[in-house]
Amino acid sequence: MIEITDLHKAYGELEVLKGIDVCIKAGEVVSVIGPSGSGKSTFLRCINQLEEATSGRIVVNGQDLCARTTNINLVRAEIGMVFQSFNLFPHLSVLENVTLGPRKVRRMPVKTANEVARRVLEKVGLSGKINAFPSQLSGGQQQRVAIARSLALSPKAILFDEPTSALDPELVGEVLAVMRDLANEGMTMVVVTHEMSFAREVADRVIFMDGGHIVEDGPPKDVFRAPKSPRLKEFLRHVV
Ligand code: ATP
Ligand code: MG
Repeated sequence: MIEITDLHKAYGELEVLKGIDVCIKAGEVVSVIGPSGSGKSTFLRCINQLEEATSGRIVVNGQDLCARTTNINLVRAEIGMVFQSFNLFPHLSVLENVTLGPRKVRRMPVKTANEVARRVLEKVGLSGKINAFPSQLSGGQQQRVAIARSLALSPKAILFDEPTSALDPELVGEVLAVMRDLANEGMTMVVVTHEMSFAREVADRVIFMDGGHIVEDGPPKDVFRAPKSPRLKEFLRHVV
């Protein structure tokens, strides 16, 4: 579903991704772990075209993202992204945050967009907050709105970049629970996370990145219990 071949990304002189090859199947949940600066966010941002790759190929559902004819806005709608910092529009209500994409990108009529929004907000447990503004919500609630906003576009996959890192510890669980539900329903997910328990229990696959390379890629039990590279062993010693 997402096929990435020899992906390189440089910011000026700084080469951040140094040849990434990875294939993510529909319904797969992939956790990406690795030290700060290893290129995890850049990797996600290239997949949904927030950054332009320097070279390489990214094919999503048979569509080459680097082709000129590809509509970037539609690609972004097909691949949702959830950020550490929620990125909700502060001046819009929860309902408006969730309906904006469907109305603008999918050209959905207001009534249909509102119905979709109610459905996805119920899914993340926020039916009662439809008219609230982001500033009136806890971090965990804001992040669940952000997930609902992605879901409203019926994405083929959702990329999460450290979705719980900005949350107070007591709010982490409610966001992980929503993500766990999505995983169980078969959503294709790529999750950059420091939550090793999520990676261990929910992910089908764990990718360890270091220095712009994928150093290990395998089922959680192999990656956590039998790390092959010294770099991963060292990393796990610090985080687990
Ligand atoms: P973290 O765990 O801290 O989030 P990361 O693995 O997500 O790290 P990236 O954010 O992908 O790492 O950054 C990789 C490298 O690219 C870092 O050295 C960073 O400073 C650099 N970098 C990231 N974005 C830009 C940018 N827009 N312009 C220049 N350099 C950048
Ligand atoms: Mg990052």
